[in-house]
Amino acid sequence: MAVNIAIDGPAGAGKSTIAKKVSKELGFIYVDTGALYRTVGLNVLRQGKDTRSADDVVPTLDGLRVSLRFVNGEQRVFLGEEDVSEAIRQNEVSMAASNVSAIPKVREFLFSLQRNIAAENNCIMDGRDIGTVVLPDARIKIYLTASAEARAQRRYKELVEKGQEVVFDDILKEIELRDYQDTHREIAPLKKADDAVLVDTTELDLEGSVEYMLKVIKERL
Ligand code: C5P
Repeated sequence: MAVNIAIDGPAGAGKSTIAKKVSKELGFIYVDTGALYRTVGLNVLRQGKDTRSADDVVPTLDGLRVSLRFVNGEQRVFLGEEDVSEAIRQNEVSMAASNVSAIPKVREFLFSLQRNIAAENNCIMDGRDIGTVVLPDARIKIYLTASAEARAQRRYKELVEKGQEVVFDDILKEIELRDYQDTHREIAPLKKADDAVLVDTTELDLEGSVEYMLKVIKERL
């Protein structure tokens, strides 16, 4: 049976950067489920529709093909045959993803895709509801978090390095709003699974976080 590690936590806690490194070390694939919600959100934005409106969003799921492919262990996400791995990283897509992710039909639409990948692969899967809903039987569950300021700092740096023009206060506000939306939605809200290990990276740099995470995982594997 495939070994699954679930990592959940708020935006910008370093889940993807840390999980990528840890999965390489373990020889697991890394599955970023946020990319799936981002792809649905991107598609809605491109159609000029309202990402908050279920009436607008649900019809876009009809015939929609979202898939993940793994090239040398690296995840690429596809909208139909288009590789949208870069396009979904635009800042406006973050809020679109958070908006569409609160719509139950969207979560239903992406559920089996996530389950099937986990059933077939040793993987580290990250998201908001992996330990609580998608993979409640995951071998190891981690809840990765950091203060909102620390997370906004990291996201700001990342976007500036990518050449995007952003204002720190906007990023912080957006992170706080996304936290609020993700933890307060009715369906599959972001929360720590009872059996998840809490890892707080506020005071840790990337290297320290990876090291700590590997220690937590290896102790439990
Ligand atoms: O992880 P990332 O920030 O890319 O996710 C974008 C948005 O997708 C999150 O703010 C959250 O609302 C949603 N999401 C989710 N469940 C997941 C992964 C992401 O609701 N498993």
